[in-house]
Amino acid sequence: MNIILFGAPGAGKGTQANFLINEFDLTQISTGDMLRNSVESRTELGKQVESFMASGDLVPDNIIFSLITERLNDIDMKKGFIFDGFPRNLKQAQKLDEIINSININLDFVFHIDVDEKILTSRIENRAKQEKITRKDDTSEVLIERLKVYNRDTKPVLDHYANQNILNVIDGMGTIDEVSSNISTIIKKDFKVD
Ligand code: AMP
Repeated sequence: MNIILFGAPGAGKGTQANFLINEFDLTQISTGDMLRNSVESRTELGKQVESFMASGDLVPDNIIFSLITERLNDIDMKKGFIFDGFPRNLKQAQKLDEIINSININLDFVFHIDVDEKILTSRIENRAKQEKITRKDDTSEVLIERLKVYNRDTKPVLDHYANQNILNVIDGMGTIDEVSSNISTIIKKDFKVD
């Protein structure tokens, strides 16, 4: 079973990704984690991407494409996977369609964890106030920029999957457990899980 998870910054995408990975034994493909690792280990790639990430902008597509191709070569395709943070724009979604066709796999579910814009903004402000900032790109200014980039570049990708009839919009305003349970109900209804 292969999944893509979408959610604006503050929507709880990371939390739900972890839930799904454990619940359905999926391999996580998180471009954000891959990029953060390369920044932390000071690789050439890390140096190239650092400033994009620090300002909340998207890293250029060609860099993302080589990361994804490399990662897909490395993983066991028999196990299902979850794309977390990819695709982030229409060009990436088209590239993912090509990759999926070329390696003969299917996308089974696309979930959009939908949270009202006002709530996202207030979650962002609260996070900043509580100073629970563990990521360099989690300051309120950068989060607001990431939200803008999400609305401009990533939201249009949802239509791409709505047209393929695989988009599920999940109300992200409930508790963490409610959101998890809504997602797993949809999966269990449509997909026979061993
Ligand atoms: P995330 O952990 O998914 O929120 O990603 C953190 C940051 O990494 C983003 O704000 C972007 O700067 C960069 N990033 C992650 N995934 C992508 C992607 N698919 N395309 C472009 N930039 C990305």
